[in-house]
Amino acid sequence: MHFTKPNFATVKILKSFEKAGKHFVEISPHPFYPDGSGGQIGDRGTIGSANVLSVNSEFVEVDRALDVGSVVEAKTNSERRKEIARQHTAQHILSAAAEKLFGAKTVGFHMSEEFTTVDLDSDFSVEDVENLTNEIVMSNVNVEEIILSPQEVQKYRLRKPLSKKALESGRIRLIKIGDFDVNACGGFHVSHTGEIGIVKIIHDEKVKGKFTRIWFLAGKRAIKDYQSKEVMILKTSKLFDSSWKDLKARVEKCLDESKAKSSKIKKISELLSKYVSKDMKPGDIFELDENVVSYITRSKQDIPYAIKYSPPANIALCMPEMSKERVLKWARSLNGKGGGKGPIYRFSFEDFEKFKDAFKKFTSEK
Ligand SMILES: [Zn+2]
Repeated sequence: MHFTKPNFATVKILKSFEKAGKHFVEISPHPFYPDGSGGQIGDRGTIGSANVLSVNSEFVEVDRALDVGSVVEAKTNSERRKEIARQHTAQHILSAAAEKLFGAKTVGFHMSEEFTTVDLDSDFSVEDVENLTNEIVMSNVNVEEIILSPQEVQKYRLRKPLSKKALESGRIRLIKIGDFDVNACGGFHVSHTGEIGIVKIIHDEKVKGKFTRIWFLAGKRAIKDYQSKEVMILKTSKLFDSSWKDLKARVEKCLDESKAKSSKIKKISELLSKYVSKDMKPGDIFELDENVVSYITRSKQDIPYAIKYSPPANIALCMPEMSKERVLKWARSLNGKGGGKGPIYRFSFEDFEKFKDAFKKFTSEK
């Protein structure tokens, strides 16, 4: 693996301070790669007894206070570094593959703790780019780190022109992946593409109107993703009593059946509402399904009635010859929660038996 910083160092704590409940230290030397530098996530590890929480080029955030002037061992998390190197080298290969196959140039790159994104400036086939990338990974191509002066760099055809900052630095670091790609970069990379393991594009989407962003995973991230998706698919297949290959067709069939059942329920509810409405008398109290209730309250509004429906405490009321103020005041006196414009109201009452008695009394009062 090619890391630009050592894995461990004996460091001196130069400064130690607290800000908004967080602890920070300034150390020398500084072996931790900063978060976000060159689009890459930063190092984690330990400084003496403290764990590193975040890193910038000046300070390191740690989980406890450290004594100024003390000399301690600082260690980076090497497994994390390897995983970062896998994502970063995969990005070089993906970008080169998209450019070689479709002339799509990389205009942005961002690595996060969960995935990495690459923005490309023209259309391409995700599958073709992914396949060529994995061909390069499986061919176990040598990845070289070459340090040169800006003059010496001119004999290489770089995928991306050098920045002004890089030219001024006087020392250019090239990452050369066999004859497939060469590009200037300051991040972490593997020594052979086989160390990446696998590269998987998990999503693509148009961004900023003209670019396509791909989300990808490499190495252990990709394997973890495959494992969790497999568990999800197999569990779901079991629920549908199907093989994973038939799962999509099975889910579509279920959705179609569910839609057909919903429309049948609607028709039956409408029909039932007509039968119930026909024989309704003033002051009647029913218990019905909610689907039926909405049909009745829409078509029958000339006599007072109450219908209880699910969830259990809900009650639809029709009070045609009574003012809204009077109905609301009465409902509130019974601890009813809800309201309505009249003549239809919807309330929930805690005690249905108590409500029934009160409703009979109320409707006979007028
Ligand atoms: Zn790189």
